Amino acid sequence: MSLPNQAEYVIVGAGIHGLSTAWRLAERLTESGQSVEGKVIILDKSGISAGATGIACGVVRNNYFQPAMRKLMAHSVSIWESDPEAFSYHPVGYMQISPESMREDVKQIHAEQQEIGYESVFIEGEDESREYMLSMFDDWQAQGITSVLHEKKGGYANNTKAMYGLAKKVEALGVRIITGVEVTGFTRGDNDTVTAVETNQGPISCDKVVIGAGPWVRDFWSMLDLPSQIEVKDLDGNVHQDVDMWRFWQLEEGVLRVDPELLKTNDGDMPPVLHVDTDAPLYSAVDGSLITDEMWGIYYKPDWHFGGIQGGASPYEIKKPAEDVAIDPYGPSSPEFVSGPEFAHMWVSALAHCHKRFEGTMPKYHKEPSGGVGCFTADSFPVIDTFNSNVTIIADSNHGYKMLGVGCLVAEELLGEKQDLLEPFRFSRFKEGKLHPVSNSPYPWS
Ligand SMILES: Cc1cc2nc3c(=O)[nH]c(=O)nc-3n(C[C@H](O)[C@H](O)[C@H](O)COP(=O)(O)OP(=O)(O)OC[C@H]3O[C@@H](n4cnc5c(N)ncnc54)[C@H](O)[C@@H]3O)c2cc1C
Repeated sequence: MSLPNQAEYVIVGAGIHGLSTAWRLAERLTESGQSVEGKVIILDKSGISAGATGIACGVVRNNYFQPAMRKLMAHSVSIWESDPEAFSYHPVGYMQISPESMREDVKQIHAEQQEIGYESVFIEGEDESREYMLSMFDDWQAQGITSVLHEKKGGYANNTKAMYGLAKKVEALGVRIITGVEVTGFTRGDNDTVTAVETNQGPISCDKVVIGAGPWVRDFWSMLDLPSQIEVKDLDGNVHQDVDMWRFWQLEEGVLRVDPELLKTNDGDMPPVLHVDTDAPLYSAVDGSLITDEMWGIYYKPDWHFGGIQGGASPYEIKKPAEDVAIDPYGPSSPEFVSGPEFAHMWVSALAHCHKRFEGTMPKYHKEPSGGVGCFTADSFPVIDTFNSNVTIIADSNHGYKMLGVGCLVAEELLGEKQDLLEPFRFSRFKEGKLHPVSNSPYPWS
């Protein structure tokens, strides 16, 4: 099929944000009696879910120290819950299991969850936390835990399955998803407004553009001549010049090839997604040597899609790829971007630190590459804003698989209705010093 030379809305990226934006936009246009066909198109250089969305662990949680993130996540959870079957969504809940240094932060998260009506339970104290965990897993043995936040909502979705479900809805509404087309630049008119999207197969003139490009967002930022370094006013009012707008982190993930049922609870139920942070020393499950005596964290869940126990650990920042180097975070040409043996050793040892059932399972760690790269903003939180007067960028700072609701909010904004939930994520926050509060979690995204 040939490429159209015109569309009212051109959405770049068939990941979670491009697809969910198209979905709500098409629904709204249909509701108002307008035809969607030819009006809304999605372009992707590869295919549906070919980017970060297709390798995400798929965890859906509310646990954020930042109130604005929590509200956004609560909204997204309601969208996941709207059609669990199509979205391959498993509402098993989520647990944040923490050491003393995080207790007050997590306590505050729990209190604020109650205020917004997000159901969760908070357990405090070392003995109480152990007892709570043992009531769920009789082989629980993690050390250094003094609080447990148990979110009753959230859980996880099977990453690509969910996106195929979403793509089906999008196409049924008349949106064309065009794959194998690479966007290479933009034609700009008066006031820098984008008048056409340039692709490797020719230009497409348009009225509005949405970019949901995951870790490739930096390339689009450059195409629009937006600044690679910015001014940031921190929460103490200090102004920092020349702060990198984008940073890249390696997310380490893997799969332990055991029967996923191995992680069932004492009652034989599917467990919540588990996230453990602790400062207890971590010893090797292979030879007993000390792996770390500093704060560490892991997350894990049984997963039939990945075929075992799937999860990850704290990410680490990687060298910024040169501006003129194309980012290919998931290609075989980028072996340094996948999880290696050190991660496997740490993660499986950490699983065994938490549950006796994982002792001796190191040989079952799968050998295939896993994990990937996330592109983070200057403060590690999303930037969702309009540039050049008609280009909306959804730069989710790698928080985004759980953010199924963001595209829906962006669609409302495209139709002229400003969304309060998106206001804290505007680009102007850096200069204005309206940053999000920072927690004591070891993760850049909590
Ligand atoms: C290993 C890993 C695990 C993760 N786990 C979780 C998790 O458990 N929970 C969670 O909430 N988040 C998770 N994330 C983050 C989440 O996956 C991302 O934030 C989210 O998927 C980004 O979605 P997106 O739609 O913005 O981008 P993507 O899914 O990356 O989609 C971007 C699309 O744009 C296309 N594209 C790029 N350049 C061009 C171009 N020039 N022309 C045309 N098309 C182009 C790509 O082909 C791609 O399909 C994880 C991320 C990683 C890396």
